[in-house]
Amino acid sequence: MLPYGRQNVTDDDMAAVASALRSDWLTTGPRVELFENDLARVAGAPCVAVSNGTAALHTAYAAAGVGPGDEVITTPMTFYATAGTASQLGATVVFADVQEDTANLDPFAVQAAVTARTRAIAAVDYAGHPAEYDELRKVADSAEAVLIADAAHSIASTYRGRPVGTLADLTTFSFFPTKNLTTAEGGAVASPDPALLQRARTFRSVGVVRDNLRRPDEGPWFHEVHEFGLNYRLPDVLCALGSSQLRRLSAFKARRVALTARYDALLADVPGLRLPVTRDYVDPMRHLYPVRILDGRRREVFERLRAAGIGVQVNYIPAYWHPVYEDLGYRRGMCPNAEAFYAEEISLPLFYDLSDPDQDRVVETLRGVLGS
Ligand SMILES: *Cc1c(COP(=O)(O)O)cnc(C)c1O
Repeated sequence: MLPYGRQNVTDDDMAAVASALRSDWLTTGPRVELFENDLARVAGAPCVAVSNGTAALHTAYAAAGVGPGDEVITTPMTFYATAGTASQLGATVVFADVQEDTANLDPFAVQAAVTARTRAIAAVDYAGHPAEYDELRKVADSAEAVLIADAAHSIASTYRGRPVGTLADLTTFSFFPTKNLTTAEGGAVASPDPALLQRARTFRSVGVVRDNLRRPDEGPWFHEVHEFGLNYRLPDVLCALGSSQLRRLSAFKARRVALTARYDALLADVPGLRLPVTRDYVDPMRHLYPVRILDGRRREVFERLRAAGIGVQVNYIPAYWHPVYEDLGYRRGMCPNAEAFYAEEISLPLFYDLSDPDQDRVVETLRGVLGS
């Protein structure tokens, strides 16, 4: 089965991991800071490495002070964790609908959902295409809310020439193997705001602090916990992999851009199909290539592609369809654009090592299925 996403791991990556394993540090050693600095150069803002993208979201919401009584406005067109981690902190999640074409959070829908309780607005750069940050920034500022970017798909994308990482108050990344780069499990939080980043760092490290102590005279061993935190550290061994992967980030991007352009060209004239759009002010590194299958044929096409050995995927089931939200009273029909998008969406294989002939096979198979 041709997968929809896959990691690229080289001998250099393995050497970097092996050298971390031979060192004195397996976790929280020098490679964590090196990786955070390497990431910061890409993100355009200082970063804290964490154990996965879900932990990054949990950490970002905690740093934003999200808690009971707060509302967090987000998109339903995402992996459930974008919403679930805010719910876990006791906040009420408010789903705003997406734009009909990009499937990114619609700033007008966000504006309409703002209340006096709105604490954070969390956008997702769906498929790697940055959300409408200038408009979202205006809404967030007028609501006095923290703007969060779930950039699990979009590291190395830019918006109006600015890198993902600088567009929100807090930006989260995931380095799961299918994503644009990998540390096996891994993630990060970026923020241009030193206070938010420090809060994220403390939350990631079990809440332990060694300065501004309430009882500083206790002794040199002394530390305190002022706010609850979790152990969301990313080990040195995985940070070594991350830094090694980051060296190939521009090659990863170039290949994904080329594969996207090939899909765009090869599928342009196929009836019954709608291709993803790209705003002219963004330069995305696409994580997904999401097509829409028209005429109610999504399930049939999905099953026939899978039967032909092409590992397509559906991204995403609207987050509030999950029983955990259904049981809280969230109902189908809330976000019609997201539901219409979901009903037609299929993600075609897109990864660094996807060869032109394999991509041609995907295109020919899809053409065949749609033409019959
Ligand atoms: C993958 C992903 C996450 C979660 O990342 P993990 O590393 O798998 O925990 C969160 N949000 C989005 C949009 C994702 O695609």
